[in-house]
Amino acid sequence: MLGISAARLKRSIKHTAIWTAATLIVVTVVLVLLWRDRESLDAIEWAPYPSVAPTLDAVTVTWLGVTTLLFDDGETQILIDGFFSRPSLLDLLLDRHVDNDAAAINYALDEYRMRRLAALIPAHSHYDHAMDVGAIANRTSASILGSESTAAIARGAGVPEDQIIVAESGQQYEFGNFTVTLLDSSHAPIGWGGAIPFAGTVEEPLATPAPVSAWRAGRNYTIVIAHPHGTAIVQGSAGFLEGALNGVSADVVMLSVGLLEGLGRNYAERYWQELVTTTGAAHVFPVHFDDFSRPFGEILLQPRALDNFIDVAGWLQDFRDTWDTDTRFHLPEFGKPVVLYPRTSPEA
Ligand SMILES: [Zn+2]
Repeated sequence: MLGISAARLKRSIKHTAIWTAATLIVVTVVLVLLWRDRESLDAIEWAPYPSVAPTLDAVTVTWLGVTTLLFDDGETQILIDGFFSRPSLLDLLLDRHVDNDAAAINYALDEYRMRRLAALIPAHSHYDHAMDVGAIANRTSASILGSESTAAIARGAGVPEDQIIVAESGQQYEFGNFTVTLLDSSHAPIGWGGAIPFAGTVEEPLATPAPVSAWRAGRNYTIVIAHPHGTAIVQGSAGFLEGALNGVSADVVMLSVGLLEGLGRNYAERYWQELVTTTGAAHVFPVHFDDFSRPFGEILLQPRALDNFIDVAGWLQDFRDTWDTDTRFHLPEFGKPVVLYPRTSPEA
């Protein structure tokens, strides 16, 4: 009796093991296929931002992935965010301890000639925005302007206090000919049940290595970058505070679209109206559409299962056609400076 039971038990364990292994293999294959199923940016046919001959004091912007944007008027440089390290997918999934990637940071500073950086201004303090600001400030002596959380990130990296400015919302900060204002905004509600992932503030100086979850969002800002030649707005996350931009006008909006698809078309339309219709911007550059678990310099759309920028681009065109018929879309090209203003030729 006992012998038969033991044999049966052994067989049943063997079957269970085989089925578990088979299921795991199938699930892994499906996940890998889903992860690799991505749209191509080639599906978007927006005209490039009309190129003009740069004058000596022209303002250029260079997109360096996610919402890391280098503004430069030939005299002063401002870096919105500062994210070159780009931890891998496994780092994110396992919340592994990550550190600033010195090679990537040194390469970016050199390749994009950041030798006149006056300020580093993260839109909020998540790692995909603020992870490298301390390391960059230490290499360039630029000031860091941002929330208390951003200041804690800077302190953790050993940035001297006189390079750290805790922003007051609505206050104007001058860097050369740029006047920067941080206005309170909201992060996109992309977590479970409309929550904000890694919400809260960074309370203590954030020493690295640290898990990516340690970079809490902190306060979220709409960043208004005014210059005698024109005004640009950077929205680092697809969130908004109703009416927060009433009375603010801009020529250009750098519009975060990360995970906007999952928030739905109605939400996206309100977001559009708050950021573009209200400010009257003539030009919109979507940003934050790239998979930020890829290495610096590699621009790939997110897996279709996670986000679909191509669908969102279609929505945005519909909103434009409904509310802002004169507004034009442009796709930023990684690492390629665009002359924003002054415009010396007719706009496309
Ligand atoms: Zn974020």
